[in-house]
Amino acid sequence: MTTSTIVSVPPDRLPAGLLIGGDWVEHSSGGQHEHIYPASGRTNAVVALAGEAEIDRAVRGAHAAQREWVALTPERRRDLLIDLADALHEHTAELGRLNVHDFGVPSLMTEGHVGLAESFIRFYAGYVDKAHGSSTPISKSFDINLIEREPYGVVGVIAPWNGALVVIGLNVAAALAAGNAVILKPSELAPFTSLRFGEICLEAGLPAGLVNVLPAGPAGGEALVRHPGVGKIHFTGGGHTARKVLAAAAANLTPVATELGGKSANLVFADADLDRAARLSAFQGPLGQAGQSCACGSRILVQDSAYDAFLEKLVGIVESVTIGDPFDPHVVVGPVISAAAADRIVGVIDRAVSDGSGELVTGGTRIGGALADGYFLQPTVFANVDNRSQLAAEETFGPVVSVIRFHDEAEAIEIANDTTYGLNAYVQTNDLTRAHSVARQLQAGSIWINRNSDIQPQGPYGGYKQSGSGRAGGEQGLHEFQQVKNIRIGMS
Ligand code: NAD
Repeated sequence: MTTSTIVSVPPDRLPAGLLIGGDWVEHSSGGQHEHIYPASGRTNAVVALAGEAEIDRAVRGAHAAQREWVALTPERRRDLLIDLADALHEHTAELGRLNVHDFGVPSLMTEGHVGLAESFIRFYAGYVDKAHGSSTPISKSFDINLIEREPYGVVGVIAPWNGALVVIGLNVAAALAAGNAVILKPSELAPFTSLRFGEICLEAGLPAGLVNVLPAGPAGGEALVRHPGVGKIHFTGGGHTARKVLAAAAANLTPVATELGGKSANLVFADADLDRAARLSAFQGPLGQAGQSCACGSRILVQDSAYDAFLEKLVGIVESVTIGDPFDPHVVVGPVISAAAADRIVGVIDRAVSDGSGELVTGGTRIGGALADGYFLQPTVFANVDNRSQLAAEETFGPVVSVIRFHDEAEAIEIANDTTYGLNAYVQTNDLTRAHSVARQLQAGSIWINRNSDIQPQGPYGGYKQSGSGRAGGEQGLHEFQQVKNIRIGMS
């Protein structure tokens, strides 16, 4: 393991107010949050948090902006969204840096994150002027029956701290293309990229108030969910919070789509290219975003005849990467989000060691020395893990993976599906028949065969079981933000 010491924090402007109806609001009723840069442990900015009053103001304004939005021709809306995608492209470097300030993700990855948001906006822009409903014959009548899709009006989009650009692409783009106005509520732990995105929407010519960005904590989030003027909530985050959101949404029976966490299985069969599989498992596991990704392949299931060889390769890769300053372009692994998260993850590791859930092969502790002020953890691999242990059952959301042994295909599928989650699954094999058959039997919303989880706008992304109910991407992603109306014209 090489460490890169904290040397650089570029002096970027970090927007820290609320963006409501095209105006910056600095003083709000929801209090303030001291944003800590996780790589240094130092204060980045003091962020204003939305309370009930600001949420109400934003929702009211958004209704007027939404009427203005749908009054534009489809061609104009399409062009404005294309302009927005172009504007994101022009600001790739700036948005990438803000993403690093937000949560210490290595700058190596951020261009890809901005590119993902841009590609979804471009994709959904293409739907705007091709929207169409359908018609159906009605039995025993000449009546005309039309089936149409309409926007909800104002939708609330709640984002996790690790995925502002993902949510902007997957959900905000689809919501706008479907004809809605958006109240985007980023996490108070990572507000800067979303706030700048809101500003770029204005610069690109979108109506003021169409995209409002209101960082908030749980109270502001709940006020958004409970607001009677919000037609639908799209929530991305953890299952624990989703339960509260669903309970709050029950007040007005507001529909909620959820995109939640995972404990994804990564099945490595003995016939796979083991070098490639080990590399993919390392980067899709403890290394990428320090394991703080919903798509993390945190349970690596390996066929026993290849187990030892694979484990050696995996550990070799994990131990060879550079950890440290996220603004250093050579750094692969940055910090975890907070001191509390670092303590929690070390607690999971310590418990797994003491209760014998698996054998600690590498990692396991917080990194000191020049990185001691930040929240850096060693990428950690456990071998011979019991799939029923807490280590293998619960989302760790840190740089920790469990390697689990299996004998044959049937056992691999049984272990992979023995979880309450169902977001992703990965299959490494050179046997196409096996790849397809195993993919069909895995209980997860996305199956990635011999590759990483590179989410693209053409395909729907979302979870099975407790990993969520919504779909983002493709036509399904657009439909998530539309309600269906049936119109029947009597002809008798
Ligand atoms: P979280 O559940 O703690 O918070 C998510 C959002 O909900 C934040 O904006 C937070 O401020 C807000 N919130 C908190 N309490 C609320 C309440 N009572 N009412 C309304 N909103 C409230 O999750 P997190 O720690 O920010 O993110 C990590 C989680 O997100 C992980 O479980 C990860 O797997 C998941 N995630 C899922 C996807 C996906 O596409 N499936 C993508 C990224 C992250």
